[in-house]
Amino acid sequence: MTSSKPLLSEPAKLLFDIPSIEIASTLRKLDLRIHRNADKRLFHITKLINRFYNLTMNENEVQCHLDNWDYLAPRFNDNIIGMTDTQITCKIKQYMLEFPNNHICSLLSCYLPEKTICCGKLLSAPRPFQDIRIFHFSESSSSGTLYYRKCGVCNIKYYYNYYENEDGDKFCIINDDTTIICLFSNIAYDVKLLHRLDNDILFKYCGFSNYTNAYNMYCEAAGIVNHKLMDRFHVERTWFLWRLCRFFGKDVKTKVPVEKDFDKEILSLQRDCLDLFIRRWSSKRHQSYCNEDCCKLLVLDGHQKATRRVCAYKIGTIPSEELGAIKVGCPHLPAYKNTYCSEHIGFKPPPEPSKERKLYNLRNPTQQLICRTLKSDNPNIPSHRSAGIVAAVYNCGYICAVDELYGSESLSQVYNFLVNIVKKFEVLPTVIAYDDACNLVRFIRNSTNRKQMCQDPPYPS
Ligand SMILES: [Zn+2]
Ligand SMILES: [Zn+2]
Ligand SMILES: [Zn+2]
Ligand SMILES: [Zn+2]
Repeated sequence: MTSSKPLLSEPAKLLFDIPSIEIASTLRKLDLRIHRNADKRLFHITKLINRFYNLTMNENEVQCHLDNWDYLAPRFNDNIIGMTDTQITCKIKQYMLEFPNNHICSLLSCYLPEKTICCGKLLSAPRPFQDIRIFHFSESSSSGTLYYRKCGVCNIKYYYNYYENEDGDKFCIINDDTTIICLFSNIAYDVKLLHRLDNDILFKYCGFSNYTNAYNMYCEAAGIVNHKLMDRFHVERTWFLWRLCRFFGKDVKTKVPVEKDFDKEILSLQRDCLDLFIRRWSSKRHQSYCNEDCCKLLVLDGHQKATRRVCAYKIGTIPSEELGAIKVGCPHLPAYKNTYCSEHIGFKPPPEPSKERKLYNLRNPTQQLICRTLKSDNPNIPSHRSAGIVAAVYNCGYICAVDELYGSESLSQVYNFLVNIVKKFEVLPTVIAYDDACNLVRFIRNSTNRKQMCQDPPYPS
């Protein structure tokens, strides 16, 4: 600090020169950071600054430099004199209130796309797109500005959390260092808040409305001021996409759906989701958590409680390589106050001949040997709900595959599930256990099942 010599009233203090502005400034910060009442304060400061910059200053020298600083920029309540950071932030916020129109740029937080190059060329300079409000976990909501950069060649616009192509379709870009998520309208969420929601779902079995109610109530009690209440549906949609993107990584392009297509769009990702799940948990990598006997046995079982409402259109099928087609009906969620999905509203089902439940003929000697465990045509499952899930679990306890069932836990669906997952397995089990195994084995051995094609049209996916 040679240049500041004439400013000082006590030149005798300036016995030692500090090698650089950087070191001088770090020393001052160290002085502010270490507690005023800490024991052997000067000793530790000297040791630390010497360690930072490989110096050999002694305590006298350091004390002298610190005294100099007190003349130049006196301290006040552990701060260099002048306004504190919080005060300045407050003043800036007040100043920004003088510009109430939307599309003003936030001076405090700007969110720019990470991408700078597309089609081999530099993207346009960032331009402000819109102002957003960000919900935080333990502080009041804040405002920020989203920016975008455009590619001059393919016309794709890049934003902080997604890119938008010429047709207006948006696709997520969510990295590990993303700090806020803004996918719908101008409401954003701090990633920490979404992580919190993750854990509340996992460990407190909490739903989205419970979460938002609890959050809104907490904010009111703790004096956290938000511009409006958190909306259950908005946070749900944002959380879903954020989770999916983190799950898929860069393997799958995740589209940001328009509001009315949300359920349909999420459902279209179901196959990719299941594939990735199976590949991950049946891979050799999972064996590193287990012992060598892992993956020898695979247990299949249906679970009938995890059901959801499905469209009442029952004609669609899903293709199956070996069985031809399997009747499952339309898997989409019914429209509001309707039994059909938006695609099948107004469909009139043809009168169906009343189905007779399969009876076991006990006089027939081979039929006597059949276990009465057949689960198809279970009359207890209402037709407007799915029939639950079927899961495959290794003997080590890891669930390596799940799939949804429709209508009933039919042998054709269980068999198709097995065929699909086995193709993706890195490690094949030697034994399969199933609670209706004798019927399943009979089904597999009966080659006519494989040729029995369902005549219904395939369901367009
Ligand atoms: Zn481009
Ligand atoms: Zn295992
Ligand atoms: Zn439908
Ligand atoms: Zn049996």
